[in-house]
Amino acid sequence: MSEQTKRIEAAKLAVSRASVVCREVQARLADVQSLLKDDRSPVTVADFASQAVVAWTLKDLLGSCPMVGEEDAHELREQIAAGNTSVADQVLDAASCVWDGATMDAVLDAIDLGNADSQQHKHGFWTLDPIDGTKGFLRNQQYAVALGWIEHGDPVLGVLGCPNLSRDQSFPLDEKDPNGSMYVAIAGEGCWEYPADEPGAEPAHIRRLERSDGEPVRMCESAESGHTSHDDAERILERLGEAAEPARLDSQAKYAVVARGQGDLYLRLPRPGKPYVERIWDHAAGSIVAREAGCAVTDIAGLELDFSHGAGLEKNRGIVVGDVKLHGLAMGAINELQIGQA
Ligand code: AMP
Ligand code: MG
Repeated sequence: MSEQTKRIEAAKLAVSRASVVCREVQARLADVQSLLKDDRSPVTVADFASQAVVAWTLKDLLGSCPMVGEEDAHELREQIAAGNTSVADQVLDAASCVWDGATMDAVLDAIDLGNADSQQHKHGFWTLDPIDGTKGFLRNQQYAVALGWIEHGDPVLGVLGCPNLSRDQSFPLDEKDPNGSMYVAIAGEGCWEYPADEPGAEPAHIRRLERSDGEPVRMCESAESGHTSHDDAERILERLGEAAEPARLDSQAKYAVVARGQGDLYLRLPRPGKPYVERIWDHAAGSIVAREAGCAVTDIAGLELDFSHGAGLEKNRGIVVGDVKLHGLAMGAINELQIGQA
């Protein structure tokens, strides 16, 4: 088996295992609502357990795991040192549902594999958002386990687990599907759709078709108004002609929805006067999924996303994803309206 094939298989298994862990924790949300009141929320438990399981799986199957992950175990270790093991115990418990023989030390060490310095691994490193779309996770709606492999500043492999996103496109986007989906994209080769926790299943090839002229534009955007300018998106849509009601959903599931043709355009627009640098783990897996399905993926200046500047997309602002033609039209509207130039 080539290095690349081993990496793809390990990443699929890692993300599908993490999806199982996230579902387990999500199923218990109702019982542990009281924990939501402080920072030791079930989200944190699932974030840590998901990162632990992904990093452990990759290290186990590949021998090493250079990773820039969203989480680290610092706070958990401090709590344990102070005699408070309640969150750490829940993390161990959650990870154990797919990790036989997991121990506290092994789980903490696996989480800390996510502390790699990307500048030391330019030839290749993983980036992971163990639960992207926390708010969606809490609402029992969309969230993602997002794993990308980056070489010289460009994602070359993306595995995007969307445990609540149905493969059946007639299923409502704001409801929880029992099977979910997983997208695997390989640079230059394409994008495939699997059931969320069946990495060995026969996948469906995903290819984005061009939208027919005159069809209403189906736009996706963040549910959170703090993460994108809903107002500017509306102004852009007005320029593009007839538009459907925007689909608001959390996480990189938006990239998958556009990649598979259920949506036409994903806009993530900087809010005037609120500078923000996007994090690499929020876009690595999703952007390659959309790109390999045939979409154009850029920032609002039309620049390719540049993953070579540490944990932030320092050289980019905002995100625009769509089929090549609609992406071009959206870029025209962004320029005319001077979006992001305030
Ligand atoms: P979404 O579900 O698409 O709204 O994206 C969720 C991600 O938005 C989280 O993982 C955060 O890393 C990221 N985020 C946090 N604050 C902001 C912000 N001000 N602008 C854009 N994204 C943000
Ligand atoms: Mg995120």
